[in-house]
Amino acid sequence: MMVNFQKVSFLSSAPKLSFCPPDEGIEIAFAGRSNAGKSTALNTLVKNKKLAKTSKTPGRTQLINFFELNENQRLVDLPGYGYAKVPLSVKRKWDINLSEYLRFRQSLRGLILLMDSRHPLTEYDRQILMWSSQTNLEVHILLTKADKQKNNALKTTLEKVKNFTRDPELSSPSISVQLFSSKSKLGLKEFEEKINSWFTRELLNPQ
Ligand code: GDP
Repeated sequence: MMVNFQKVSFLSSAPKLSFCPPDEGIEIAFAGRSNAGKSTALNTLVKNKKLAKTSKTPGRTQLINFFELNENQRLVDLPGYGYAKVPLSVKRKWDINLSEYLRFRQSLRGLILLMDSRHPLTEYDRQILMWSSQTNLEVHILLTKADKQKNNALKTTLEKVKNFTRDPELSSPSISVQLFSSKSKLGLKEFEEKINSWFTRELLNPQ
């Protein structure tokens, strides 16, 4: 059964784990350095140009923003990282809030990690992958803006990131990687299928 991504609506915002909505059902979260293309990818997924704008309105950029697909399925937009102007103390606080969400959120089934395909595997990306592996969280990496590069360069980047994810230190149960472009829609089907599989897996394999 395919999830209807277009039936999405803004649910709430939370500054940290303790303010999140009830920890029930299934959540899929989106993380990425600011400007990686996270909002655009979310909008492409739900075919609504305004959705992730909600997360970019003043006052919401540092919040965890929840969008509801139905009672038991949510998309979660995590704050973009890498704003130069954020003081170190704020950044530290955010690291704690983000790692707590990633490590302790029971309903979190998978993480979409977006990286600009021209600048993948920043320190921040590596940090997120480490936190995720510590809790066996599944991660699907989108190498974004693939329309901006030639095929050869894309192939090299894809291999490089795939190699990195095979690092035994990460020991995550599953990290997958794909090329993606919101502009050309390259990889959109693969992206949709990944999210669908995370949302519906329990229905296929009841425990
Ligand atoms: P966010 O900060 O991660 O939410 O990034 P945005 O979604 O706001 O995107 C940052 C910039 O990259 C914007 O100017 C987008 O138009 C651009 N962008 C996002 N996705 C793509 C893409 O697939 N192709 C191209 N060429 N530009 C993109």
